[in-house]
Amino acid sequence: MKIHEFQARELLAEAGIPVPPGAMVQTVDEAESAAREFFDGGHEQVVIKAQVHAGGRGKAGFVRLVDSAAEARQAAKFMLSNRMVSAQTPPGGLDVKRLLVAGAVQIAKEYYLAITVDRARATTTMIASAEGGVEIEAVAERNPEAIHKVYLKPLLGLQPSQARALALALGLQGKQIGQAVRIMLDLARLYLDTDASLAEINPLIVTPPGEDHPDGQLIAIDAKFNFDDNALYRHKRIAEMFDSAEANPAELRAKTFGLSYVALDGNIGCLVNGAGLAMSTMDLIKLHGGEPANFLDVGGSATEESVTEAFRIILSDEKVGGVLVNIFGGIMQCDRIARAIVAAAKGVGFRVPLVVRLEGTNVAEARRILQEARAHIPTMVAATDLTDAAKKVCAAVAVTA
Ligand code: GDP
Ligand code: MN
Repeated sequence: MKIHEFQARELLAEAGIPVPPGAMVQTVDEAESAAREFFDGGHEQVVIKAQVHAGGRGKAGFVRLVDSAAEARQAAKFMLSNRMVSAQTPPGGLDVKRLLVAGAVQIAKEYYLAITVDRARATTTMIASAEGGVEIEAVAERNPEAIHKVYLKPLLGLQPSQARALALALGLQGKQIGQAVRIMLDLARLYLDTDASLAEINPLIVTPPGEDHPDGQLIAIDAKFNFDDNALYRHKRIAEMFDSAEANPAELRAKTFGLSYVALDGNIGCLVNGAGLAMSTMDLIKLHGGEPANFLDVGGSATEESVTEAFRIILSDEKVGGVLVNIFGGIMQCDRIARAIVAAAKGVGFRVPLVVRLEGTNVAEARRILQEARAHIPTMVAATDLTDAAKKVCAAVAVTA
């Protein structure tokens, strides 16, 4: 689960990490009055930032520094009435419903700091770079030596010596080093305590030297979190931060029916039972030259009703030019899937080729049900095994595409 920047800033601030003051607003009027409060409170500049679950806002014009409440109003109006398109959004962009109005800070230098899972090493890893602000993927490609990593021990968490090594690798000086070490330790603790899978501060900035901070101050001015959905039950507060407006509507609908559904870019809809089988089905589709339109695991306890809903979700995706059903009936009984196929054919209608591979519990009964309902499912093709099914659906989609 992802959260907004204004929520991420709250978590950082509570963990002890310096964050400029800010307010989340939803209207142009609210944006103007929040900005006015910051100006009246002595801030010279205010920053208006679109709150969407995607980065690249700065380049897209959805992070704006303003010098007056009137300018804040203009920036807010632009952001709330235009869709934001960046490298990280779908091509059509995202609707902006919330803004962060925050006190702006002066920046001497921008750094990158994050903690996440390194799957290849199977460890939690803290990553830092002196080339912050920009997309870290670009830095990793262009200049991999500029990215520094330390690997956390499962029982020890981030050690102060590791944090210090990172701070030195970043080239920080004087009092900046102690500030960075504290921020790194706080971020690592927050990440572990909340069962996050990503906690990223980009940029972590150093301010120019000032009276209070002769070596400058380290401040987080943008943050991104991702949390492990399977652990949300033990983080009520974070679960409550969920913003349904940012979620894919089809994925949300699937969730309410107990289906694990992830929308993808291809054109072959998949309905499978079991996450492992779903993944190998997607692999086989790709092997035979196709592109899956989704990942969908109906699970072992799905009902005829939820499987029918699964078909409805798959077929509501306009990109879908063919559907592959791959069921290995164990706990899930094949006849239940067959009944759902018939119900979906009658209720929704398969306007595209439907390739069905059923095996396992009650398969004979399932075949009988499908055979009897043949007239309602004219686009149905039976497959003998998974490879046969993948080949058939890829061929069928290639013809219609
Ligand atoms: P992103 O583009 O979605 O990652 O949004 P960020 O919040 O990281 O902002 C993008 C860039 O805007 C930052 O890298 C900064 O260069 C600039 N920026 C954001 N907030 C401030 C601020 O308070 N003061 C100054 N001077 N620049 C800022
Ligand atoms: Mn950023």
